[in-house]
Amino acid sequence: MSQLQRIAIAPSQLQQGQILLTKEQQHYLGRVLRLREGDRFIAMDGQGKWWLAQLIGEQAQVLEALLVETELPIAITLMVALPKGNGFDEVVRCCTELGVTCIAPVLSDRTLLHPSPQKLERWRRIAAEAAEQSERSFVPTILEPVAFNTAITANQTSHRYICEARGEFPHLKHCLQHKGQMTNDKEQETIVIAIGPEGGWTIQEIENAESAGFQPVSLGRRILRAVTAPVVALSLISAACEV
Ligand code: SAM
Repeated sequence: MSQLQRIAIAPSQLQQGQILLTKEQQHYLGRVLRLREGDRFIAMDGQGKWWLAQLIGEQAQVLEALLVETELPIAITLMVALPKGNGFDEVVRCCTELGVTCIAPVLSDRTLLHPSPQKLERWRRIAAEAAEQSERSFVPTILEPVAFNTAITANQTSHRYICEARGEFPHLKHCLQHKGQMTNDKEQETIVIAIGPEGGWTIQEIENAESAGFQPVSLGRRILRAVTAPVVALSLISAACEV
């Protein structure tokens, strides 16, 4: 089953056991993947559902729903101050592979990049591709960029961390030690983790985050690039939470 090609569809494309393929999807399945009449593929709606489907003419027939268990037992929101250049593309791609639930780009005092509206579309496309490639059943949500101070007050989750490259703060891995048991809980817990820009957070931003309930944490003794730090944080969280 895992060898079958996968395509992302919108939930509205599924109607009475048929998948109404768009022209682009027909082209992709027929011309790019070279699937023929009767060939099977996997359709995923990006919201947790996968189906085994069969190409019939220009449409597809659903054969069965598939059970996919590739998601982490907790929800992770990654708050990232936008790095310069195309660095955020890599953050979106890698963190989607690692299991992030939501990515919230933030504009901090030292953020250099102020993205165009097209960037958001691009990041959402990258997230969809990475989710497909890593066989996730959910495509992470990419929020519109907002000011850091707005983002920290909007989110009231109990487990909130802000990564600070310098200073004597507890290592994130020690803060996550109890998370391994969370899988038995009925309600899914959420972790929010904030990563700063190339120039780091300002003292005021750290203070504001602490007042909003964020705990400052370290990712180790080396200074990581703004693009590396989210990957390290996500790796530590998934290692602590996945059984
Ligand atoms: N220019 C800053 C400095 O010299 O202190 C470093 C900023 S670092 C390139 C970008 C962001 O990655 C930081 O704001 C922090 O959120 C995160 N980061 C990098 N290394 C880290 C570490 N060892 N522990 C915690 N966070 C780290």
